Amino acid sequence: MRRNIGSHPYLLAIGIAVAVIGLAAIGYFFIYQPYLARSYTDAQASRILMSTVVDVSAYGRDAETYVKQAFDEMERLEGLLSRHIVDSEVSQINAQAGEWVKVSDPTLAVIELGIEYGELTGGAFDITVGALVSLWGFGTGDYKVPTNEEIASALQTVDYRRIEVDKAGKRVRIPAGTVLDLGGIAKGYIVDEARRFLVENRIQRAIVNAGGDISVIGSRPDGTPWRVGVQNPDDPSQIRWVIPLQNNSVVTSGDYQRYFVQDGERWHHILDPRTGFPARRIRSVTIVTDKAARADALSTAVFVLGLEEGSALVEKLPGVEAIIVTSDDHVWISSGLAGSIVSL
Ligand code: AMP
Ligand code: MG
Repeated sequence: MRRNIGSHPYLLAIGIAVAVIGLAAIGYFFIYQPYLARSYTDAQASRILMSTVVDVSAYGRDAETYVKQAFDEMERLEGLLSRHIVDSEVSQINAQAGEWVKVSDPTLAVIELGIEYGELTGGAFDITVGALVSLWGFGTGDYKVPTNEEIASALQTVDYRRIEVDKAGKRVRIPAGTVLDLGGIAKGYIVDEARRFLVENRIQRAIVNAGGDISVIGSRPDGTPWRVGVQNPDDPSQIRWVIPLQNNSVVTSGDYQRYFVQDGERWHHILDPRTGFPARRIRSVTIVTDKAARADALSTAVFVLGLEEGSALVEKLPGVEAIIVTSDDHVWISSGLAGSIVSL
């Protein structure tokens, strides 16, 4: 009697085994080996973005490719969030003030975050300061000390509580005359997104530095924490403190970062929404916390709030540390940071 060979249980098993081994071999030689061959490398690159030099150093598989892609992502986000880029989403919101404007997720997220920090700081941080910022000439470079009338009229347009967000419809509306300015928070958010992209692509160590808005992944090659210098506000070419960083972020707001001099006085770019003038009594605020966006918003806000209110806010927020330097050179260091930073 003839038997059907194909139905023989042993032959079938052998057939399956051969197929499995064959597939495994193909996988090993054509997928796994080339994957291993992609080497772990160090990569470093810089680009001018967000009106500053942005540096990224990273170590991991294909680090060079991912560093380049992280820059492309940062550039894309700047293109959405900068009010100085004509066709950005923020520019569209400003150009169509009074109307609902459809925006993408990152823009919606940063605006919501901005409103949240407005609430947390009683309006010391306010992303509707755009008209005031322009009046002083920051952004355009057309610097001047405005008249009291000009300031009063610009202040009428400043109030983050009047921003309307339609989350489900992904739309934003600001009152006619109001100008949105994410300059106090967007850089931090963009640094966070670059960091997130690198983590998702299994980069093991990295430091993203956007002109002082810094976020790190892991530690240095020798296993010790990254060390980030904080400038002396009296002489920004000098480092005054060194902060150890491991998987967190540091951002500094300083009166030396953007300013002009008129009538013998220095007028800087961090404006107090209560007065319309550059915030007084503080020279610099450095915030250390998990997210750069958080550190960015808080550094600007604490600068405006001043030493007393600002330090109280920092101590109230878990996981937030700070260095505050006042105009009379008093230095306040939060309790959680005092033990770990090095003063030079
Ligand atoms: P930063 O350098 O992060 O402290 O942010 C300063 C920038 O934020 C300025 O150049 C303005 O674009 C914007 N800004 C100024 N004053 C405020 C404020 N009180 N709240 C929010 N953003 C502000
Ligand atoms: Mg800021």
